[in-house]
Amino acid sequence: MRIFDPHIHMTSRTTDDYRRMAGAGVRAVVEPAFWLGQPRTNPGSFTDYFDSLVGWEPFRAAQFGVRHHATIALNPKEANDPRCRPVLGVLPRYLEKDGVVAVGEVGYDAMTPAEDEVFAAQLELAVAHDLPALVHTPHRDKERGTERSLAVVAESGLGPERVLLDHLNEVTVERARDAGVWLGFSIYPDTKMSPDRMVEILRRYGLERMLVNSAADWGHSDPLLTARTAEAMLAAGFSADDVDRVLWRNPVEFYGQSGRLDLDAGPDAGELTFAGNSILRGGS
Ligand SMILES: [Zn+2]
Repeated sequence: MRIFDPHIHMTSRTTDDYRRMAGAGVRAVVEPAFWLGQPRTNPGSFTDYFDSLVGWEPFRAAQFGVRHHATIALNPKEANDPRCRPVLGVLPRYLEKDGVVAVGEVGYDAMTPAEDEVFAAQLELAVAHDLPALVHTPHRDKERGTERSLAVVAESGLGPERVLLDHLNEVTVERARDAGVWLGFSIYPDTKMSPDRMVEILRRYGLERMLVNSAADWGHSDPLLTARTAEAMLAAGFSADDVDRVLWRNPVEFYGQSGRLDLDAGPDAGELTFAGNSILRGGS
């Protein structure tokens, strides 16, 4: 089984997680830029973080044969802090980098006017840089957030086939499908979507434009829930080819629109060094 996790925050995970993921079949990931828990107070904190998403984290992943890509954006939560707004000005130089496969995650947290502005501005950047966009739907008031996100996308000039609308559930899947965007589902250990609920959605709505991720982050989450969902699909009678489509070919097709996916086996991980360090030798 080969797995592509299209939305996982590896910054918040341990090296042991990479080991377990690789063992479960995870061969590629996309790590979207997001908030880091502690509010950032200046744009420099963002550039250091973005540099780590395109430098250090791909290196860490490569130790385990996992291909790492990133999406870059000012996240919806911090869009509300005027001190973070200048980040919009540094995005263009990151959106030109090789490992950056989309603008994201953008969208709404509390649906404020500041979020409106930053969301629209970043969809414009996606158009300008010829990249797809990863759109986060809010966890509170999800129905209204989904509706409003789709309206902003429709106005942006970015085609629906270039948009992945994420964190969907039973309530929002149909509306998103009808809009023609790609459909992302984050599977969690004990809240929101579970592997069994995901299988029901796939039964009901089919496999087209469907993506499954573990979204693993600072909260209680599990980077192996992509593999658990694949197993639940097989147990429910889906074929190995169905699993490959949802867990590998769909994310490859979506992010492949960037022209920047790099899924070759690559050099032997043991030979890689990063800034003179080898984390295989303890990193010091
Ligand atoms: Zn996320």
